[in-house]
Amino acid sequence: MKRELLRQLPSVDKLLLDARVQFLIDRYSHAAVVGIVRGELEAARGEILAGSDVPSQECLTDRVERRVRGSWEPSPRHVINATGVILHTNLGRAPLSRDAVAAMQAVGGYVNLEFDLATGARGSRHEHLNGVLRQLTGAESSLVVNNNAAAVLLALTSMAREREVIVARSQAVEIGGGFRVPDVLRQSGARLVEVGTTNRTYIRDYAAAITPETAAILRVHPSNFRIVGFTHEPALGGLAQLAAARGILLIDDLGSGCMFETEQFGLAHEPTVQESVEGGVDLVCFSSDKLLGGPQGGIILGRTSLIQAVGAHPLFRAVRADKTAIAALGATLMHYLRGEALTKVPVWRMIALTADEASARVENWRQRLGNLGEPKATSSTIGGGSLPGQILPTVALALGPTLPAGGRDNGALTVNELSSRLRQQSPAVVGRIERDQLLLDPRTVAEDEDEALLQSVQRALA
Ligand SMILES: *Cc1c(COP(=O)(O)O)cnc(C)c1O
Repeated sequence: MKRELLRQLPSVDKLLLDARVQFLIDRYSHAAVVGIVRGELEAARGEILAGSDVPSQECLTDRVERRVRGSWEPSPRHVINATGVILHTNLGRAPLSRDAVAAMQAVGGYVNLEFDLATGARGSRHEHLNGVLRQLTGAESSLVVNNNAAAVLLALTSMAREREVIVARSQAVEIGGGFRVPDVLRQSGARLVEVGTTNRTYIRDYAAAITPETAAILRVHPSNFRIVGFTHEPALGGLAQLAAARGILLIDDLGSGCMFETEQFGLAHEPTVQESVEGGVDLVCFSSDKLLGGPQGGIILGRTSLIQAVGAHPLFRAVRADKTAIAALGATLMHYLRGEALTKVPVWRMIALTADEASARVENWRQRLGNLGEPKATSSTIGGGSLPGQILPTVALALGPTLPAGGRDNGALTVNELSSRLRQQSPAVVGRIERDQLLLDPRTVAEDEDEALLQSVQRALA
């Protein structure tokens, strides 16, 4: 019975003669298309044996076409983020400024990455960003590595291996997939000494835990959650004094790398890099692709002697940043130095967008889409495990619950169908579904993406 059904499947040769498959062979590669045709027939046999109907030749050709196009498309590719989540981890966290993208492009070839052009001697990759970071933060010296997880691991490995590190119980936390403070400490070879209680830790708790084995106090910013109510954590200055008096280090895992006062945008206070440096922290570690708004990276700031010791550890070689990240980070930091970060760094442009400005953009989208959908007051979030629970009022374009669609599906399209079709467009558009409507939030859509966004919506509905 099943054999009968299997015989109804077209042969590999027959599918290869299909005009659409022929087109794919001409356009891409014979060998690759043959492989995909074989694979799809094999998959169809499996499905038939498992009880499915025999797929039509058209259906098989559709599948082959999707697979071929899928495997030839560049990946990862551009996505328009209309979710309103600014640091969207799954969509690549911080979008880069134009200057940062141009800087990456400019260093595609050979560069003076570790070469001193003045003397012709060997140079150091640390030097490129040292000056600008010193001017911005006041820290003597800096290192740039692959991400903040690497920065913290490197700081602990180089400074506290086989010794004790004191952490408040409220800070022995998990930050996003795979970064758990106790695990990172273990991996560094340091021994974790927890002090205080889940909600309250005092200076005297730290002081009582210091022994000759203690290398450092580690402070971790609990980026992705908040404990409210009856809580206490010592001020940074007090911890720095204690560490200095007892001859141990204070290491700060700051997380987001914020350089602006977030209160001016109606958000809670996010600890800044400048506060940590001024507060007397010995080593400050933070991400460069969260609120700093640059490429993926981790920055370590501190005194020159300490930074030299961290950079001399063999682990540094395994986690150092590449030339394109260093170039893009340099361009991002220049926006801060020139006092233009609020308008040039996309993350801060997005945070600074007012609800009125969002409303005007949505009105413009609606008109260009023939009055499709309606404006809806809602909220955007920071995302990326930063400023949890904090919202920015916005206005989004709300589509649905059903939409008029042209073409074969003439009639109605559900919100889920529209959302799926938008993800298949080029560029793909990702929105967010709320109460049976698809919301497109202009906050996270760059103005120069408007045209492409509207075209993707029109194609998805056609
Ligand atoms: C985000 C974060 C990390 C991890 O940083 P990555 O750059 O993602 O590696 C570590 N610690 C804190 C406090 C964070 O917020």
